[in-house]
Amino acid sequence: MHRRDFIVKLGALVLLQVAVFPSLVEATKTLPPEIAALQKRWRSLLAENAKVATDPKALAKSKEIWRKELPLESYQVLFEEDTEAPLSSHLNLEKRAGIFVCRACRLPLFSSEMKYDSGTGWPSFFTSIPGHCATKTDYKILIPRTKYHCVKCGGHQGHLFDDGPTPSGERWCNNGVALSFIPTNP
Ligand SMILES: [Zn+2]
Repeated sequence: MHRRDFIVKLGALVLLQVAVFPSLVEATKTLPPEIAALQKRWRSLLAENAKVATDPKALAKSKEIWRKELPLESYQVLFEEDTEAPLSSHLNLEKRAGIFVCRACRLPLFSSEMKYDSGTGWPSFFTSIPGHCATKTDYKILIPRTKYHCVKCGGHQGHLFDDGPTPSGERWCNNGVALSFIPTNP
């Protein structure tokens, strides 16, 4: 394929994504005040002396080291972008107050106040802790989807959809094996 053709096709894909997910693009621009307030107060749900990563700065750590340190199913989701079977995670039923951290590097990604029952069989959240997740476009099933990862270790967490509850309209569909839960009151 000529370079110019490639660029034209790439441009068409980007336009298609904006056309397919206009509300998601919109949702990332304006943040409802109640969501902003909830994002700000996540630390109030962190247990005293909880062992978490406090600096989101990227880690220089190889996949080979993570493979040795993590359970196989967590490694495969986080660093090979696998997807766990729906309804397989105990975190689906987790309703206590607390913080969900990345299973690999322990960076806080969600608070219990951000969780809701999406009925999909995967732990779901309607927003995330700001600056701790980053998104990329995924063409794995040809239709573009937004996948997201932990900014510290780069571990894949799940996919972001625009069919979540109001007011954010977002659904952060997470693999349970990619998270650990720290209850506020152990
Ligand atoms: Zn991480």
